[in-house]
Amino acid sequence: MVEKIFEVIEKEKKRQQNTIELIASENFVSENVLKAQGSVLTNKYAEGYPKKRYYGGCKFVDEIEAMAIDAATRLFGVRYANVQPHSGSSANMAVYRALLKKGDKVLAMNLNDGGHLTHGSEQSFSGQDYKFVFYGVDKESSMINYDEVKKIALKEKPKLIVAGASSYPRKIDFATFRDIARSCGAYLMVDMAHIAGIVAAGLHQNPCRYADVVTSTTHKTLRGPRGGIILTNNEQIIKKVNKVIFPGIQGGPLMHVIAAKAVCFEEAMSTDFINYQKRVVSNAKALSDALKLEGFKIVTGGTDNHIVLVDVKKSVNLTGKEAEEILDKVGITCNKNMIPYDLTTPFITSGIRLGTAAMTTRGFNEKDFKEVAKIISACLTNYDNKLVIDDLKLRVKKLCDDHPIYKEVSYV
Ligand SMILES: *Cc1c(COP(=O)(O)O)cnc(C)c1O
Repeated sequence: MVEKIFEVIEKEKKRQQNTIELIASENFVSENVLKAQGSVLTNKYAEGYPKKRYYGGCKFVDEIEAMAIDAATRLFGVRYANVQPHSGSSANMAVYRALLKKGDKVLAMNLNDGGHLTHGSEQSFSGQDYKFVFYGVDKESSMINYDEVKKIALKEKPKLIVAGASSYPRKIDFATFRDIARSCGAYLMVDMAHIAGIVAAGLHQNPCRYADVVTSTTHKTLRGPRGGIILTNNEQIIKKVNKVIFPGIQGGPLMHVIAAKAVCFEEAMSTDFINYQKRVVSNAKALSDALKLEGFKIVTGGTDNHIVLVDVKKSVNLTGKEAEEILDKVGITCNKNMIPYDLTTPFITSGIRLGTAAMTTRGFNEKDFKEVAKIISACLTNYDNKLVIDDLKLRVKKLCDDHPIYKEVSYV
């Protein structure tokens, strides 16, 4: 059985090496992040916080967590950080519990227009425990209309406003969100899960300057281990958040993951990382432009971040579900995604969401993404032509072979 587990891990490694990963929320971590996460720190119980633990033997894990907190605060220019959330979802739960009572009103982005499940879906604790009301995007531009957000905020008077999204391809104006929150007396929480790496590199507005509290994942554009973080400049808020994370909703922290987060925060302060994020953004523009040349309709007409949202229904008369399955056959992985004013359901959808963070880590440049656009176009228009599909598989394989994920590992 154990052997079998490692066999399957090897298979997954090969799958990752041999496919073009366009899922916008995924990335490939560095070998140092992998090493920290695969370390003996996983053996240690450390309930509590550095120097205030419920267990002995925490001398070294205290050092690790203190370094992670220090690196997070330096990276984002913020006073306080909690690095223990097991995921982006638990980070959001912790902030809601710290700032709200059950039943309080929250204003967040519509799920169909880009919001996350934890932003008020009825399937999620968020929609069950709090009363969510929503803002969406403009019908014409598919972008956030801040006047409209303000109108809804003044009418609804929420206790908290959530900014941030999972499939919004444009910059978000956090300064304006702060003004809106002030005008209606609400807290502002920014969930920067998708764009944290782009923010760390200084390419988008840093929400820590404007929001009362910021949550994030560490594994998307930030390129760290799977997990969450909470950042704030407000001492009262961090005190409440810390109590909610432990003992409120979590038990022992994952010290191996916290070490890997520290490694990722340090990596994100390097010039290499800033250049990487610049390439992520320019590659997304190149992918979007190349798809437009192939006749595809891109939601909002382009992108400011790592996400390209494609209306496949209008472009090639396929549902998102069909497009995702067809692309999978030639070795391109992406996900079906609702688009603004979508008339289908989340299991069908009219769009696909593409992201450039993962393949940019593998060294893809603009030329490579233009080739990807051509492959996607040929694939979605010739999916029942076996000769074409076989040729596209070879083109995918060539791109993958030219860009190994981990250099010292043999995939043959
Ligand atoms: C991915 C994401 C999350 C949740 O992260 P998990 O680690 O999967 O729980 C929360 N908010 C937004 C906006 C996201 O995109």
